[in-house]
Amino acid sequence: MLRSFDFIEYSKENSSIQDKSSFNQELMIAEKQVRNSKGHFASAESKCICGSKMNYFFSKWGITYNRCPSCGSIIADVSKEEISYFKSCKELTDFRASNFYQESACEKRDLSWEELIDWLRFRTYRYLGEKSVSIVDYGNRYYGLINKLKNSSFCKHYNLKASILNENSVSDSNISQSDIVLYLNILQQSLTPVEDLRNAGICLKPNGLLFFSTRIGTGFDVLTLREHSKIFPFEHVFLPSIQALEIMLQQAGYKVLEVSTPGRLDAIYVKDQMEQICSEEYFIKYLMEYADNDILQEFQRFLQRSNMSSYVQIVAQKMEDTK
Ligand SMILES: [Zn+2]
Repeated sequence: MLRSFDFIEYSKENSSIQDKSSFNQELMIAEKQVRNSKGHFASAESKCICGSKMNYFFSKWGITYNRCPSCGSIIADVSKEEISYFKSCKELTDFRASNFYQESACEKRDLSWEELIDWLRFRTYRYLGEKSVSIVDYGNRYYGLINKLKNSSFCKHYNLKASILNENSVSDSNISQSDIVLYLNILQQSLTPVEDLRNAGICLKPNGLLFFSTRIGTGFDVLTLREHSKIFPFEHVFLPSIQALEIMLQQAGYKVLEVSTPGRLDAIYVKDQMEQICSEEYFIKYLMEYADNDILQEFQRFLQRSNMSSYVQIVAQKMEDTK
């Protein structure tokens, strides 16, 4: 398995992928829906996917997040019913499908989408030897990205699945066996990750590739800032460790080919929220207080190189004997 590393220096100014007013409005609607869900549903089991009992880690918007002492995963103490209630929020779905939201996403995310497509194109060629492939895309909620994928030279056929942008979604029966599946930022909302990963592979040919990304629970900013990090109920309910992810992917019938944590902003996020660092974290506080930009970039480079940034990208291959 390859641990890839590709560092580009970024500052907060040139890398923001969210328009502030659009992001704040989205958070406001999400928080209202999360708080409304409280008390309506039975409480969830606070066991990790590895079977271990979990410990309290932090709470946000009234929702408890627990951390597993064995595998390092962080899981929100919520039930499937609460997540379904959250996903049924029409105000949030309508806002995300609105022109305002879609246009600001296009403007802010253009560069990161180009980088994403380069990543897909190069890895597809490297592992399948194909320059043009059929794609199934799970849960994509951005018209701009959908259009970029459809118009890119490596896309032969494109199908969108399980998206809030309903008009583009297709049913299972319309999907032939695809060369690659995109499963980007979806698993972080799952309470049944192995089952969901296995289901994602149903439309994949044997030896086809799963391109996967998610926030993880072992990243520097998440572990240091806890509830002050960019983790929001119920957008993020499951934050696995990399080690847990690799095991889950194997259990779901994939061989992991490549893992990278290309996150660029952990150190900047933490420096921005220095006052939120726990008072006993003397070294981290000292580092954040006295590090200049060069040192912060060097530290971020170390986080990336050691897979300790809080966003992971994985390329996995469907094993041949998996149905
Ligand atoms: Zn665990």
